[in-house]
Amino acid sequence: MGYNSPIHEPAPTPVITARRPMNIQKINVGNVNILSISDCLMAVDACDFFPHKSVGAFQQFEGQVDDDCQVNGGINVACFLIESQGRRILVDAGLGPTPVAQAGGAAGNLLSEMRQGGIDPNTIDTVVITHLHFDHIGWLPNPLPDGSVCPTFPNAEYIVPQADWDLLFDPQLPSHVNGEGQGGGESPYPPAVEVFRDSLPVGRLMQKLDNIRLVDGDLNVTDEIAIVPTPGHTPGHQSLAVTSQGNRAFVLGDVAHLPLQIQVPHWNTKADVLPELGIKTRRETLRKLADQGIIVAAGHFPAPGFGRIIAGETRRYWQPL
Ligand SMILES: [Zn+2]
Repeated sequence: MGYNSPIHEPAPTPVITARRPMNIQKINVGNVNILSISDCLMAVDACDFFPHKSVGAFQQFEGQVDDDCQVNGGINVACFLIESQGRRILVDAGLGPTPVAQAGGAAGNLLSEMRQGGIDPNTIDTVVITHLHFDHIGWLPNPLPDGSVCPTFPNAEYIVPQADWDLLFDPQLPSHVNGEGQGGGESPYPPAVEVFRDSLPVGRLMQKLDNIRLVDGDLNVTDEIAIVPTPGHTPGHQSLAVTSQGNRAFVLGDVAHLPLQIQVPHWNTKADVLPELGIKTRRETLRKLADQGIIVAAGHFPAPGFGRIIAGETRRYWQPL
């Protein structure tokens, strides 16, 4: 769809409007509304997140990382609600209601934020999961006291990448830091796949749901919304291209986690399962988004995560709306 269409002049910059509460913010892309809903902030040590980088390596990025190598302000965990042609499509489902040790004990607020913003979870008809990391699926299952599980968004189909699903439930997925598989033995996967292990508790609950649709590759959700494969961070990672009335936007997922990666797209994080493919996808995606002036919705960038990628004299950089 529009993501691959020829270069043309960038559309006028959309205006961000805030709904109550302030951490729901909205832009219009043609006839499409995109709402950014902040689930929580995660404290992240950049020196741990970017392997082999020391605090000095981050000084070039103008205050994005502090002197203790902590990401300034933490990493936002945003979910995007896209309204298109009468449909309500939620992209990603945050950390969930339970404190997550891997996120510094943070828990999400997505449902309360939605309710305070006047968004009934029952009106969501589709949930697109960019990938199966724990900070993107936490709100999907709703475990009940009797041991059963129901969907948190009961009227929605959950669109999940097949390749990530296959990896999450692969018996050879490491279950321990020493690389031992779920069923014992050597793991064929790189160390980054350990992050998948943190998704297993929610994944096991998701297995009990009957509203999951596994997808592989391109898929049009509406005439205005297309799922686009962007593999590398995970094998099945997917993004969403929005095109309406000549205006375009792109919901990035975790192709990049921080604005600094736009300047250094060859920097992988410790969570990138296929690092070389991740670099290739990041370079190609960021170049297209910059060249074509496409509005970007980046869930881990500072809230609300709407902006453009600008080509500077020597490097590209992030320009928030
Ligand atoms: Zn993430």
